[in-house]
Order: sequence, then C-alpha cells, then structure tokens
Amino acid sequence: MKFGGTSVGSPERIRNVASLISGKGQNFVVLSAMSGTTNSLLEISSALKNGKKEEAKQLVDALEKRYVEVVKQLYASEDTANKTWGILSNFFAELKDICNEKVNSLTEKRIVAFGELMSTNMMHQYLLSQGVKAVLIPALEIMRTNQHNEPDMDYIKRATKEALCQNAEADLYLTQGFICRDASGEIHNLERGGSDYTASILGAAVLAEEVEIWTDIDGMHNNDPRFVKNTRPVRNLHFEEAAELAYFGAKILHPTCILPAKENNIPVRLLNTMQPEAEGTLINNELTHDAIKAVAAKDNIIAIKIKSTRMLLAYGFLKKVFEVFERYETAIDMITTSEVGVSLTIDNDKNLEKIIAELEKYGDVSVDRDMVIICVVGDLEWQNRGFEADALAALHDLPVRMISYGGSNYNISFLIRREDKEEALRKLSENLF
Ligand code: ADP
Ligand code: ASP
Ligand code: MG
Repeated sequence: MKFGGTSVGSPERIRNVASLISGKGQNFVVLSAMSGTTNSLLEISSALKNGKKEEAKQLVDALEKRYVEVVKQLYASEDTANKTWGILSNFFAELKDICNEKVNSLTEKRIVAFGELMSTNMMHQYLLSQGVKAVLIPALEIMRTNQHNEPDMDYIKRATKEALCQNAEADLYLTQGFICRDASGEIHNLERGGSDYTASILGAAVLAEEVEIWTDIDGMHNNDPRFVKNTRPVRNLHFEEAAELAYFGAKILHPTCILPAKENNIPVRLLNTMQPEAEGTLINNELTHDAIKAVAAKDNIIAIKIKSTRMLLAYGFLKKVFEVFERYETAIDMITTSEVGVSLTIDNDKNLEKIIAELEKYGDVSVDRDMVIICVVGDLEWQNRGFEADALAALHDLPVRMISYGGSNYNISFLIRREDKEEALRKLSENLF
C-alpha cells in the first residue's frame, strides 16, 4: 500500500492513513514525503549549489518550523511528541551540517532523502502510540539500484525477505518510498514521483497479492484533470495501457512503476485516500475490447529530424542513427520514417549538442523544442476500425508534427506544439468520451 504526498500532507491526513492501514493484515506500507517537502528540500539543495548558504539555512529553518507544528498537532501524548521530535531534530541537525559542507554530486540526493525519512518516522511513532506493532524497515537498507540505474531485484528480494523474516511478528511494515542506494552504496532516489515505483518493486520482490497506490483522486481518469473538466475514472486498465499512460504523462503514476507489477502479474489498484470507498482503477492483464480508455500528455519533448538527399533508409542507416542515441544513453520515445528522412523524439537535452553534431554526419538535422506527445490509449489493435480516425479527427484544427501508430496494440501518439496541448486534450475528450 503506497500513500502519496497529499495523503500524508497534514496531521489529520496522517491519522487518516493510520486508520486505513491498521487492522488490515500484515501489509507493506510505502510512504512519500509530506506534500511540498521534496520541493522545499530541492530548493535548499539548489540554493547551496548556487552558493547561497544563508538562503539555504533560512529555508531549513522554515521547514523545521513546519515540522515542529505537525508534530505538535499529530500526537495526543506529549511523550510521543517529544520522542518523535527527538528523531526529527536529528534529521534537521544533519541537514544543517550539510549546509556547512562543501557541495558535491551527492549533496542533492542526501538532502532530498529527508522528506521520506521524516514522514515514515512520524507515522511509525503514531502507529506505535496507537498500539499497532508497526516495524519501520529502512528503504536505504533494502532498496538499491545497479550500475545501469535499474532496480537491483536480486539484492532487493534478498534484503526485503531478510528484513521481513527478522520481524515476522509485526502487525505491519512501513518503509520510505522514492529513496534507495546506488550501486556504490551512496544515497540515491528513483526520481520524482518514485514512491509509486518503490511500491511496485517491493510488490514484485515479495510477490504481493496486489499493489495499492493510494492518492488524492479516485483512480486513473480518462484525461488529465488538471487541464480538462469532467474527466471520469477508468475502472479497468490493461498493464500495457497503464504503462503507456504513465510513461506518456499521466502524473498519477510514476513513468515506469507498472513494469515490476506487470512482469510478475501483480494487479495494481489506484485508490483515493480522501474517498476510500470509491472503486478506483484496477490494472491487470485483462483487456476491455473495442474501447479507447484515456488520453495523456508528456511535456518537454524535443523532435529531431534527419534528412538526407541520398538513399537514407538504405539498410544500416537507422542502426547508425540509433547508435548515436545509445552512445549518449538517451531514450527515444517516438519515431516516424519516410524515404528521405527520419524524425524522432527525446525527452531530455542533456547531450543534445553532441547528438546533433554526430547526426550531422548523416544528413541535415533540424530540431523542434517545446513539443508535447499526446498519447491516446485503448484497444488499438490495427484491425479494429475507426479508433485512430476518431483520434485524428479530434485534432483536425491543430498542426500535428508526428503521428505514431502500430508500435503496440494499445496506443496512438501525436506530437504537437506546447501551446496546443490543452486544446488537443479537450478536443480529444469531446470526440472520444
Ligand atoms: P501522489 O502525491 O499521491 O503521488 P500525484 O500528485 O503524483 O499524487 O498524482 C495524483 C495527481 O495526478 C492527481 O491529483 C491529478 O491531478 C494528476 N493526474 C494527471 N493525470 C491524471 C489522470 N489521467 N488521472 C488521474 N490523475 C491524474
Ligand atoms: N517525494 C517524492 C516526490 O515528491 C517521491 C514521491 O512523492 O513519489 O517526488
Ligand atoms: Mg506521485
């Protein structure tokens, strides 16, 4: 059971989650940091990076004040409040020490870990004060990535099993989402929104019956509720559909969090902490036929076109192009080809200059920034008629830079300009749902 930032965002919400997880069996519970905390910690880290030590210290003080208040309000007994503040004040002391150290490549990772460390310790003490025998299992001891920055599943399975065996009598287990160690043992994390990923990785490690992602909305909606009105929850999604939606921008799920569950055929349920009785969304291996399920959008996309006057698509050419991206460890999201050129998209510009320089050996290269991938997900098996036409018709009045269809049975993607994103999402909802 994973609870996100809003779900543990106030003393009242923490108490609410405590009641949701108590008496429900020996579950493994993953918590995010309280909402706003990870952002505050990143601000502190960025102030330090920019040499603004005093500003960083002020931000730490402000955060500390917030936590003093939360601890004051959360616990009925002064003893528990004092005990918890004993733990949290050590974290703040460490944070202040880091502010006085020289900034290095590990600083941000160390700072940003405090959010989850604090929320889980507060919950742990709260549960103990309620007579629940909860055991806090440090994520920094069980979660690890390998040299390729992928979860080290062998290590995670072994370490998790060991931790559970050592605490076999517990009522429930609690751990931090998001944070882990890297292959060399340094503090690391699974990137923004990574607590979902923690939950799915742990679910796979212990072969859970189900992974529950508890958040602030009643499941995966058919469009992004931040931009479109009257969206509705989707009751069932196939693993592949959910994976596409998460990867292509449905913020409710971390981009890769479906994979571990999918590989182990563990159903994932999306549930609402504010409305626990709502049905939510069930993600499993079953496909609803003949239906478009949902639409999502992924921002900050860069389109690269390589155009040659020669026989561009002669054999071996695409290999050379892809090798450039492989050398710079840059994932390609969308591809379209023609006789004379290939267009593809990437979602980070870290090595863009070098990539372009190498691609220029093969032809003229042009780049469009600030693009958005719109992903329409559902039963899009190619022999089903009309679905791709309906999606395309919705975008009739907008310029479309790329279209990708047929790569899987589950999606069709469009590349458009950022300024057209909201209109595209709205029009797709009007046409499809
Ligand atoms: P948590 O802090 O619990 O991880 P997130 O903020 O990461 O929660 O994810 C939940 C939010 O995702 C929702 O409040 C909603 O605004 C946003 N969201 C974006 N797209 C969708 C979608 N298709 N369905 C549901 N929520 C979505
Ligand atoms: N606290 C982390 C973040 O804000 C991880 C998470 O909430 O999933 O990104
Ligand atoms: Mg999230």
